[in-house]
Amino acid sequence: MIKNRKSVEEYKAGILAGDRAVLAQAITLIESNLPSDSVLASSLVQAILPFSGKSIRIGITGVPGVGKSTFIEAFGTILLEKGKKVAVLAVDPSSQKTKGSILGDKTRMEKLAADRRAFIRPSPSGSTLGGVSAKTREAMLLCEAAGFDVILVETVGVGQSETAVKGMVDFFLLLMLAGAGDELQGIKKGIMEMADGVLINKADGENIQAAKKAKTHYRNALHLFPPSENGWYPSVITGSSLTGEGLGECWETIEKYQQKMLESGFFEKNRAEQRLKWLDEYVQYLLGKAFHEQAKVQELLAAEKEHVKAGTLSPLTFARQLMDIFFESFQANRT
Ligand code: GDP
Repeated sequence: MIKNRKSVEEYKAGILAGDRAVLAQAITLIESNLPSDSVLASSLVQAILPFSGKSIRIGITGVPGVGKSTFIEAFGTILLEKGKKVAVLAVDPSSQKTKGSILGDKTRMEKLAADRRAFIRPSPSGSTLGGVSAKTREAMLLCEAAGFDVILVETVGVGQSETAVKGMVDFFLLLMLAGAGDELQGIKKGIMEMADGVLINKADGENIQAAKKAKTHYRNALHLFPPSENGWYPSVITGSSLTGEGLGECWETIEKYQQKMLESGFFEKNRAEQRLKWLDEYVQYLLGKAFHEQAKVQELLAAEKEHVKAGTLSPLTFARQLMDIFFESFQANRT
Protein backbone atom coordinates (compact mmCIF):
# COMPACT_ATOMS: atom_id res chain seq x y z
CA MET A 1 0.00 0.00 0.00
CA ILE A 2 1.15 3.52 -0.72
CA LYS A 3 2.51 5.38 2.29
CA ASN A 4 -0.06 8.10 2.76
CA ARG A 5 -3.10 5.94 2.09
CA LYS A 6 -5.67 5.46 4.83
CA SER A 7 -7.77 2.39 5.49
CA VAL A 8 -11.30 2.13 4.11
CA GLU A 9 -12.64 2.68 7.64
CA GLU A 10 -10.56 5.83 8.09
CA TYR A 11 -11.67 7.30 4.77
CA LYS A 12 -15.27 6.39 5.49
CA ALA A 13 -15.25 7.93 8.98
CA GLY A 14 -13.70 11.16 7.66
CA ILE A 15 -16.16 11.41 4.78
CA LEU A 16 -19.19 10.75 6.94
CA ALA A 17 -17.95 13.41 9.36
CA GLY A 18 -17.92 15.85 6.43
CA ASP A 19 -14.14 16.34 6.55
CA ARG A 20 -13.28 18.06 3.26
CA ALA A 21 -9.58 17.16 3.45
CA VAL A 22 -10.36 13.45 3.80
CA LEU A 23 -12.93 13.75 1.02
CA ALA A 24 -10.30 15.29 -1.26
CA GLN A 25 -7.82 12.50 -0.40
CA ALA A 26 -10.47 9.86 -1.08
CA ILE A 27 -11.19 11.37 -4.51
CA THR A 28 -7.45 11.32 -5.24
CA LEU A 29 -7.54 7.62 -4.39
CA ILE A 30 -10.42 7.07 -6.80
CA GLU A 31 -8.60 8.97 -9.53
CA SER A 32 -5.41 6.96 -9.10
CA ASN A 33 -4.56 4.39 -11.75
CA LEU A 34 -2.47 2.17 -9.47
CA PRO A 35 -3.92 -1.35 -9.18
CA SER A 36 -3.58 -1.37 -5.36
CA ASP A 37 -5.48 1.93 -5.21
CA SER A 38 -8.25 0.57 -7.43
CA VAL A 39 -8.94 -2.23 -4.96
CA LEU A 40 -9.04 0.18 -2.02
CA ALA A 41 -11.17 2.68 -3.98
CA SER A 42 -13.72 0.01 -4.90
CA SER A 43 -14.07 -1.09 -1.28
CA LEU A 44 -14.48 2.51 -0.20
CA VAL A 45 -17.18 3.30 -2.76
CA GLN A 46 -19.05 0.15 -1.77
CA ALA A 47 -18.75 1.08 1.92
CA ILE A 48 -20.17 4.59 1.49
CA LEU A 49 -22.89 3.56 -0.97
CA PRO A 50 -25.67 3.37 1.67
CA PHE A 51 -24.89 6.99 2.61
CA SER A 52 -24.95 8.33 -0.95
CA GLY A 53 -27.76 9.42 -3.24
CA LYS A 54 -29.36 12.08 -1.07
CA SER A 55 -28.61 15.05 -3.27
CA ILE A 56 -29.92 16.72 -6.35
CA ARG A 57 -27.43 16.20 -9.18
CA ILE A 58 -27.34 19.03 -11.70
CA GLY A 59 -25.38 18.96 -14.96
CA ILE A 60 -24.30 22.30 -16.43
CA THR A 61 -23.12 22.68 -20.00
CA GLY A 62 -22.55 25.37 -22.63
CA VAL A 63 -19.78 26.45 -24.96
CA PRO A 64 -16.59 27.96 -23.52
CA GLY A 65 -17.20 31.60 -22.70
CA VAL A 66 -20.96 31.23 -22.17
CA GLY A 67 -20.37 31.89 -18.46
CA LYS A 68 -20.50 28.48 -16.77
CA SER A 69 -17.89 29.18 -14.09
CA THR A 70 -19.32 32.60 -13.31
CA PHE A 71 -22.79 31.06 -13.11
CA ILE A 72 -21.65 28.26 -10.80
CA GLU A 73 -19.98 30.80 -8.51
CA ALA A 74 -23.12 32.97 -8.33
CA PHE A 75 -25.64 30.13 -8.26
CA GLY A 76 -23.60 28.15 -5.76
CA THR A 77 -23.43 31.18 -3.46
CA ILE A 78 -27.23 31.53 -3.55
CA LEU A 79 -27.56 27.86 -2.65
CA LEU A 80 -25.21 28.27 0.31
CA GLU A 81 -27.39 31.14 1.49
CA LYS A 82 -30.34 28.77 1.32
CA GLY A 83 -28.49 26.45 3.69
CA LYS A 84 -27.36 23.94 1.06
CA LYS A 85 -23.95 22.36 0.88
CA VAL A 86 -22.63 22.50 -2.67
CA ALA A 87 -20.07 20.32 -4.43
CA VAL A 88 -18.79 21.20 -7.90
CA LEU A 89 -17.26 18.51 -10.10
CA ALA A 90 -16.28 18.53 -13.76
CA VAL A 91 -16.09 16.22 -16.74
CA ASP A 92 -13.58 17.33 -19.34
CA PRO A 93 -11.81 14.48 -21.11
CA SER A 94 -9.74 16.94 -23.11
CA SER A 95 -8.20 18.55 -20.05
CA GLN A 96 -5.05 16.46 -20.14
CA LYS A 97 -4.29 17.35 -23.72
CA THR A 98 -4.96 21.04 -23.51
CA LYS A 99 -3.87 21.40 -19.88
CA GLY A 100 -6.79 23.82 -19.69
CA SER A 101 -8.84 21.76 -17.30
CA ILE A 102 -12.20 23.28 -16.51
CA LEU A 103 -12.33 24.23 -12.86
CA GLY A 104 -8.56 23.87 -12.92
CA ASP A 105 -8.33 27.54 -12.30
CA LYS A 106 -10.13 27.87 -9.00
CA THR A 107 -9.73 31.63 -8.95
CA ARG A 108 -12.72 31.69 -11.27
CA MET A 109 -14.76 30.51 -8.30
CA GLU A 110 -12.98 32.29 -5.51
CA LYS A 111 -15.92 32.87 -3.21
CA LEU A 112 -17.25 29.37 -3.51
CA ALA A 113 -13.83 27.77 -3.16
CA ALA A 114 -13.20 29.68 0.06
CA ASP A 115 -16.46 28.65 1.70
CA ARG A 116 -16.37 25.65 4.00
CA ARG A 117 -19.85 24.58 2.90
CA ALA A 118 -18.65 24.17 -0.68
CA PHE A 119 -16.28 21.72 -2.30
CA ILE A 120 -14.73 22.21 -5.73
CA ARG A 121 -12.86 19.54 -7.63
CA PRO A 122 -11.37 19.95 -11.13
CA SER A 123 -11.88 17.36 -13.82
CA PRO A 124 -9.83 14.19 -13.27
CA SER A 125 -7.19 13.69 -15.92
CA GLY A 126 -7.63 10.80 -18.25
CA SER A 127 -7.44 10.01 -21.89
CA THR A 128 -10.83 8.34 -22.29
CA LEU A 129 -14.23 9.76 -21.56
CA GLY A 130 -15.24 6.42 -20.04
CA GLY A 131 -12.47 6.62 -17.47
CA VAL A 132 -13.01 10.30 -16.67
CA SER A 133 -16.76 9.99 -16.23
CA ALA A 134 -16.51 6.81 -14.13
CA LYS A 135 -14.22 8.66 -11.73
CA THR A 136 -16.53 11.66 -11.60
CA ARG A 137 -19.51 9.43 -10.80
CA GLU A 138 -17.67 7.85 -7.91
CA ALA A 139 -16.49 11.24 -6.67
CA MET A 140 -20.13 12.33 -6.74
CA LEU A 141 -21.15 9.45 -4.48
CA LEU A 142 -18.40 10.34 -2.00
CA CYS A 143 -19.50 13.99 -1.97
CA GLU A 144 -23.05 12.91 -1.21
CA ALA A 145 -21.88 10.72 1.66
CA ALA A 146 -19.96 13.75 2.97
CA GLY A 147 -23.25 15.64 3.21
CA PHE A 148 -23.23 17.76 0.06
CA ASP A 149 -26.84 18.05 -1.00
CA VAL A 150 -26.41 19.82 -4.33
CA ILE A 151 -23.89 18.43 -6.80
CA LEU A 152 -23.08 20.60 -9.81
CA VAL A 153 -21.31 18.78 -12.63
CA GLU A 154 -19.80 21.13 -15.20
CA THR A 155 -18.85 20.09 -18.71
CA VAL A 156 -17.81 21.85 -21.89
CA GLY A 157 -20.41 22.20 -24.59
CA VAL A 158 -18.49 20.39 -27.26
CA GLY A 159 -18.47 16.70 -28.01
CA GLN A 160 -19.64 13.62 -26.20
CA SER A 161 -19.07 14.69 -22.62
CA GLU A 162 -22.63 16.08 -22.48
CA THR A 163 -24.05 12.62 -22.97
CA ALA A 164 -21.82 11.31 -20.20
CA VAL A 165 -22.95 14.06 -17.83
CA LYS A 166 -26.62 13.71 -18.79
CA GLY A 167 -26.22 10.07 -17.80
CA MET A 168 -25.08 10.93 -14.28
CA VAL A 169 -27.41 13.78 -13.28
CA ASP A 170 -31.06 14.36 -12.39
CA PHE A 171 -31.37 17.75 -14.10
CA PHE A 172 -29.44 18.97 -17.11
CA LEU A 173 -29.05 22.72 -17.59
CA LEU A 174 -27.89 24.22 -20.87
CA LEU A 175 -26.42 27.73 -20.84
CA MET A 176 -26.82 29.71 -24.03
CA LEU A 177 -26.23 33.22 -25.30
CA ALA A 178 -28.72 35.44 -27.04
CA GLY A 179 -27.81 36.65 -30.48
CA ALA A 180 -25.29 33.98 -31.36
CA GLY A 181 -26.72 31.48 -33.83
CA ASP A 182 -27.22 27.91 -32.74
CA GLU A 183 -24.46 26.72 -35.06
CA LEU A 184 -22.12 29.42 -33.79
CA GLN A 185 -22.59 28.11 -30.29
CA GLY A 186 -21.89 24.60 -31.41
CA ILE A 187 -25.25 23.62 -30.00
CA LYS A 188 -26.56 20.61 -31.78
CA LYS A 189 -30.19 19.60 -31.68
CA GLY A 190 -29.20 16.56 -29.67
CA ILE A 191 -27.93 18.71 -26.82
CA MET A 192 -31.09 20.82 -26.83
CA GLU A 193 -33.09 17.61 -26.56
CA MET A 194 -31.12 16.56 -23.51
CA ALA A 195 -31.80 19.79 -21.62
CA ASP A 196 -34.31 19.94 -18.77
CA GLY A 197 -33.70 23.66 -18.55
CA VAL A 198 -32.18 26.34 -20.78
CA LEU A 199 -30.68 29.49 -19.30
CA ILE A 200 -30.19 32.38 -21.72
CA ASN A 201 -27.16 33.82 -19.98
CA LYS A 202 -25.67 37.31 -19.73
CA ALA A 203 -29.16 38.83 -19.80
CA ASP A 204 -27.94 42.17 -18.50
CA GLY A 205 -27.25 45.68 -19.82
CA GLU A 206 -27.75 46.02 -23.55
CA ASN A 207 -28.30 42.30 -23.85
CA ILE A 208 -31.64 42.16 -22.03
CA GLN A 209 -33.91 42.65 -25.03
CA ALA A 210 -32.04 40.13 -27.16
CA ALA A 211 -32.20 37.66 -24.28
CA LYS A 212 -35.96 38.05 -24.00
CA LYS A 213 -36.35 37.47 -27.74
CA ALA A 214 -34.14 34.42 -27.53
CA LYS A 215 -36.24 33.09 -24.67
CA THR A 216 -39.39 33.17 -26.83
CA HIS A 217 -37.48 31.65 -29.74
CA TYR A 218 -36.16 28.70 -27.72
CA ARG A 219 -39.43 28.18 -25.89
CA ASN A 220 -41.18 27.78 -29.24
CA ALA A 221 -38.41 25.63 -30.65
CA LEU A 222 -38.42 23.30 -27.64
CA HIS A 223 -42.17 22.85 -27.87
CA LEU A 224 -41.69 21.40 -31.33
CA PHE A 225 -39.69 18.52 -29.89
CA PRO A 226 -41.66 15.45 -28.96
CA PRO A 227 -42.45 15.44 -25.22
CA SER A 228 -39.87 13.52 -23.24
CA GLU A 229 -40.67 10.32 -21.39
CA ASN A 230 -41.20 12.15 -18.09
CA GLY A 231 -43.67 14.66 -19.58
CA TRP A 232 -41.50 17.66 -18.72
CA TYR A 233 -41.10 20.53 -21.14
CA PRO A 234 -37.70 22.18 -20.67
CA SER A 235 -37.97 25.55 -18.96
CA VAL A 236 -36.34 28.53 -20.65
CA ILE A 237 -35.11 31.25 -18.32
CA THR A 238 -33.14 34.44 -18.85
CA GLY A 239 -30.42 35.08 -16.31
CA SER A 240 -27.32 36.99 -15.38
CA SER A 241 -24.61 36.03 -12.98
CA LEU A 242 -23.61 39.69 -12.72
CA THR A 243 -26.99 41.02 -11.57
CA GLY A 244 -28.25 37.76 -10.07
CA GLU A 245 -31.35 37.98 -12.26
CA GLY A 246 -32.97 34.63 -12.97
CA LEU A 247 -30.78 32.59 -10.63
CA GLY A 248 -33.53 32.21 -8.03
CA GLU A 249 -35.98 31.23 -10.77
CA CYS A 250 -33.49 28.68 -11.98
CA TRP A 251 -33.34 27.01 -8.56
CA GLU A 252 -37.15 27.11 -8.22
CA THR A 253 -37.44 25.36 -11.58
CA ILE A 254 -35.05 22.65 -10.48
CA GLU A 255 -36.94 22.17 -7.23
CA LYS A 256 -40.24 22.00 -9.10
CA TYR A 257 -38.76 19.44 -11.47
CA GLN A 258 -37.45 17.34 -8.61
CA GLN A 259 -40.80 17.47 -6.82
CA LYS A 260 -42.72 16.40 -9.93
CA MET A 261 -40.31 13.62 -10.79
CA LEU A 262 -40.31 12.29 -7.23
CA GLU A 263 -44.10 12.19 -7.29
CA SER A 264 -44.29 10.43 -10.64
CA GLY A 265 -41.56 7.95 -9.73
CA PHE A 266 -39.41 9.08 -12.67
CA PHE A 267 -36.66 10.35 -10.39
CA GLU A 268 -35.84 6.92 -8.97
CA LYS A 269 -36.52 5.14 -12.24
CA ASN A 270 -34.04 7.40 -14.00
CA ARG A 271 -31.39 6.83 -11.35
CA ALA A 272 -31.95 3.08 -11.49
CA GLU A 273 -31.49 3.10 -15.26
CA GLN A 274 -28.42 5.27 -14.90
CA ARG A 275 -26.85 2.77 -12.49
CA LEU A 276 -27.35 -0.07 -14.95
CA LYS A 277 -25.84 2.04 -17.69
CA TRP A 278 -22.83 2.87 -15.49
CA LEU A 279 -22.32 -0.84 -15.01
CA ASP A 280 -22.42 -1.46 -18.73
CA GLU A 281 -20.11 1.45 -19.51
CA TYR A 282 -17.64 0.48 -16.83
CA VAL A 283 -17.46 -3.13 -18.01
CA GLN A 284 -16.72 -1.82 -21.49
CA TYR A 285 -14.13 0.56 -20.11
CA LEU A 286 -12.38 -2.17 -18.11
CA LEU A 287 -12.42 -4.56 -21.07
CA GLY A 288 -10.94 -1.91 -23.33
CA LYS A 289 -8.29 -1.06 -20.76
CA ALA A 290 -7.31 -4.71 -20.21
CA PHE A 291 -7.14 -5.22 -23.96
CA HIS A 292 -4.88 -2.26 -24.66
CA GLU A 293 -2.64 -2.96 -21.69
CA GLN A 294 -1.81 -6.48 -22.81
CA ALA A 295 1.72 -6.86 -24.16
CA LYS A 296 0.86 -9.32 -26.96
CA VAL A 297 -1.92 -7.09 -28.19
CA GLN A 298 0.41 -4.09 -28.14
CA GLU A 299 3.08 -6.01 -30.08
CA LEU A 300 0.70 -7.18 -32.76
CA LEU A 301 -0.85 -3.73 -33.05
CA ALA A 302 2.55 -2.10 -33.45
CA ALA A 303 3.57 -4.66 -36.05
CA GLU A 304 0.47 -4.46 -38.23
CA LYS A 305 -1.00 -1.03 -37.71
CA GLU A 306 0.63 0.42 -40.79
CA HIS A 307 -1.08 -2.18 -42.98
CA VAL A 308 -4.45 -1.14 -41.63
CA LYS A 309 -3.56 2.49 -42.26
CA ALA A 310 -2.43 1.68 -45.80
CA GLY A 311 -5.67 -0.16 -46.49
CA THR A 312 -3.98 -3.50 -47.17
CA LEU A 313 -5.26 -5.21 -44.02
CA SER A 314 -8.96 -5.19 -43.20
CA PRO A 315 -9.62 -3.52 -39.83
CA LEU A 316 -12.33 -6.11 -39.16
CA THR A 317 -10.06 -9.09 -39.88
CA PHE A 318 -7.28 -7.55 -37.82
CA ALA A 319 -9.65 -6.80 -34.93
CA ARG A 320 -10.57 -10.49 -34.79
CA GLN A 321 -6.88 -11.47 -34.80
CA LEU A 322 -6.25 -9.07 -31.95
CA MET A 323 -9.16 -10.51 -29.97
CA ASP A 324 -7.80 -14.03 -30.51
CA ILE A 325 -4.37 -13.00 -29.26
CA PHE A 326 -5.96 -11.20 -26.31
CA PHE A 327 -8.00 -14.23 -25.20
CA GLU A 328 -5.08 -16.63 -25.72
CA SER A 329 -2.78 -14.52 -23.55
CA PHE A 330 -5.54 -14.02 -21.03
CA GLN A 331 -6.02 -17.79 -20.67
CA ALA A 332 -2.25 -18.39 -20.55
CA ASN A 333 -1.89 -15.85 -17.73
CA ARG A 334 -4.62 -17.53 -15.71
CA THR A 335 -3.19 -21.01 -15.89
P1 GDP B 1 -17.10 29.57 -19.16
O1 GDP B 1 -15.97 29.39 -20.12
O2 GDP B 1 -18.39 29.09 -19.76
O3 GDP B 1 -16.83 28.98 -17.81
O4 GDP B 1 -17.31 31.15 -18.98
P2 GDP B 1 -16.81 32.14 -17.82
O5 GDP B 1 -17.63 31.96 -16.60
O6 GDP B 1 -15.34 32.04 -17.69
O7 GDP B 1 -17.23 33.55 -18.43
C1 GDP B 1 -16.74 34.04 -19.68
C2 GDP B 1 -16.81 35.55 -19.69
O8 GDP B 1 -18.16 35.99 -19.64
C3 GDP B 1 -16.10 36.21 -18.52
O9 GDP B 1 -15.42 37.34 -18.99
C4 GDP B 1 -17.24 36.62 -17.59
O10 GDP B 1 -16.93 37.75 -16.81
C5 GDP B 1 -18.36 36.90 -18.57
N1 GDP B 1 -19.68 36.63 -17.96
C6 GDP B 1 -20.05 35.51 -17.31
N2 GDP B 1 -21.32 35.60 -16.88
C7 GDP B 1 -21.78 36.81 -17.27
C8 GDP B 1 -23.05 37.49 -17.14
O11 GDP B 1 -24.03 37.00 -16.56
N3 GDP B 1 -23.15 38.72 -17.73
C9 GDP B 1 -22.11 39.31 -18.39
N4 GDP B 1 -22.30 40.51 -18.92
N5 GDP B 1 -20.90 38.71 -18.51
C10 GDP B 1 -20.74 37.48 -17.97
